[in-house]
Amino acid sequence: MAGLKEKYKVYAPKRFPNGSVRYGEIDSLSEIVVDEKSHFSPKEVYLPIAQTIFYFKDSRCEESRPEDERDILIFARACDINAIERLDTIFLKNGGTEDAYYKRLREKVRFVLIECAGSFDGCFCVSMGTNETGNYMGILRDGKIDTQSEPVFVRENKKAVKIPDIDESIVKDVFGLEYWRGFDEECAGCGRCTAVCPTCSCFDTIDVIYNETSLDGERRRVWGSCMREDFAAMAGGHNVRKRAGDRMRFKVMHKIYDFKKRFGVSHMCVGCGRCGARCPRDIVFSDIVNTLADEAQKLKAKGGAAL
Ligand code: SF4
Ligand code: SF4
Repeated sequence: MAGLKEKYKVYAPKRFPNGSVRYGEIDSLSEIVVDEKSHFSPKEVYLPIAQTIFYFKDSRCEESRPEDERDILIFARACDINAIERLDTIFLKNGGTEDAYYKRLREKVRFVLIECAGSFDGCFCVSMGTNETGNYMGILRDGKIDTQSEPVFVRENKKAVKIPDIDESIVKDVFGLEYWRGFDEECAGCGRCTAVCPTCSCFDTIDVIYNETSLDGERRRVWGSCMREDFAAMAGGHNVRKRAGDRMRFKVMHKIYDFKKRFGVSHMCVGCGRCGARCPRDIVFSDIVNTLADEAQKLKAKGGAAL
């Protein structure tokens, strides 16, 4: 491990004092929690919750720099390794401009695969095609990094989703479904689901002034959440997605329709099931996707709004 840490900052899911399992730096492979699904994803390693973009001092700007020259080694499961490719699409292939702050960390990242002995509750990676990956340097096996063996991947989940068959002919009807209105009351708009999601990428930028009488400070990028009411608030008080149901629709459609439509690759959701597990209102994303699949089918059959 000492040799590994000379070359890499090493991150893995480990138990924190408050009981949560999330990604943090480790000193020993024995710290890795392998027998349960981490509550948070590895996203916070390469897309930090708060990241300084630049500093301003005496009317000058100075770019931030990565604090550590070492590469980054992350122990992760197949779904989370697939999830980084979704973030690559958002930050490196969207609109013809690469996001330099994402890229400089992303280029350092290497993975060691954590095999799943079985499917955890709420996982639906098989339905999303994310149960396998070839993007790893080795496999965590028997407390060591194995670079020779073939990995074992999960082939079946207890949960399965049907991907809704939505196209231009019904998408407006899907947007208009009365179904979304149920979330106006049901969803608390807390944003927990987006914080734990390995593919959610929204952020805000804030300027932090070091003290009241100074103009010195820094600009930070901090995680945002499209599920929170203030996310779509604009100057003048207008809010394009004031109702929780509209925000739910926006998120769900992004995960299983818009992303694929725009980029033509995979759907954005990787089926990790963390969002449902962490929701204080027990809103389960896979159930929503299955409901939408049924509604899309009905709309195609009838040519009108259902639910
Ligand atoms: S299951 Fe939920 S948390 Fe996991 S990738 Fe899909 S939307 Fe994100
Ligand atoms: S779906 Fe659940 S976790 Fe997400 S914002 Fe609504 S109440 Fe919070």
